[in-house]
Amino acid sequence: MTELDNFFNLSNDYFSLSCKKCTFRIEETLKTNGQPHKILTVYPVNNEIINYAFSGSQGLCLTTPHGSLQNKNVLGSLISLPATNVKKVLGFFEEHGYLLPISPEGTEIDIAALVEVLNRIKATVLLMTALEKPSLDYKQILHLTLYLLLGTQVTLNGTARITYSTYRHPFHDGIRNQAAIDSLQQSSETESITVKDMIYAPSYELNPDEYDDISNGETFTYDYPGINDTLYRQVTIAYKNNNIQSRNLRLMIEFLFHYMHSVGVIKAVTFEGGIEYYGSPDFSKFDSQLKKVAVLIARLVLSGEINHNTRSIKPFYNPNSLEPSWKAPSLLSALYFSIFYMKPGSEIYRKCANPSCHKYFLVKTSNSRKKYCCDNCRNANNQRSHRIKVQKSK
Ligand SMILES: [Zn+2]
Repeated sequence: MTELDNFFNLSNDYFSLSCKKCTFRIEETLKTNGQPHKILTVYPVNNEIINYAFSGSQGLCLTTPHGSLQNKNVLGSLISLPATNVKKVLGFFEEHGYLLPISPEGTEIDIAALVEVLNRIKATVLLMTALEKPSLDYKQILHLTLYLLLGTQVTLNGTARITYSTYRHPFHDGIRNQAAIDSLQQSSETESITVKDMIYAPSYELNPDEYDDISNGETFTYDYPGINDTLYRQVTIAYKNNNIQSRNLRLMIEFLFHYMHSVGVIKAVTFEGGIEYYGSPDFSKFDSQLKKVAVLIARLVLSGEINHNTRSIKPFYNPNSLEPSWKAPSLLSALYFSIFYMKPGSEIYRKCANPSCHKYFLVKTSNSRKKYCCDNCRNANNQRSHRIKVQKSK
């Protein structure tokens, strides 16, 4: 069986996928400088196949070779994994198969990149869920959006022919090119720079002295935390030049300029750590206009992320059954395909209300009563609240 044999079959709204069972080995080698160095490698387990099915109502499920369902919530189990617990992460893949096709002689894995890919899947599902909540948590939406937009791009090995890189939004090339154009221009001697603006329509007045300091990496007249940050400089130059054709990219540039200029300059965004600022951010400046645009950008970023990760899935006409089906090159693309088919208006992933359980489960949006992933968690938490009650009444 080659990696190209992995594909979905569509019949009665069902897609199926199979991938190889795998096992991990950690080997110690010496670097060229003589330092010991640990290498993590994933190997296929001979001829053992893991079968999946996808249905619109249940999501991606493990099945027996005969097609009966085993585990109803593969995506939920994946996003419940504590990504920093390497043992649990590797255990999940030994049970479910690896994200990408792997070489018979083993594929070396960058564990930091693997954790990043898991975090991006998690962020995608959580952002989808966050956008459907009846009252929006704008800080959470912004964190997940900027993590997906600004996070470092990582690459995972598969086979010699197949590698995977996380999505890098065209926003990055857009602002880099603008910064290159501006370095050729002379600084302006005008009183103010008027920039046409969609968020604060019709236009915004940019202070030329402040602009000179930001764009030249100086602190002649203005000095505040992060003023010479590279992203802030690129965004500000792209904002002032205002010659990006795409309306969506322009909106992202305007948003990031105003957000960093008013709330605080962003130093880094990580999944676990949230948004890190140079100084202390002033959230009172995260006003209703910016919040409205944050939601629009969240939708654009989410769409870019899902499109990138499902683009390798191709329609495939089955010559045996004369039925349409889909070819998916990897479990990773199948996971995103199940996100692609999630119906955020009608179902979401909810975190189990038992504090000692970290599971996410799929639930209808209209079902506000289901708070626990299983009966065990409901019972455990009921007993816990009962004990607390008894202790308080003593
Ligand atoms: Zn639970």
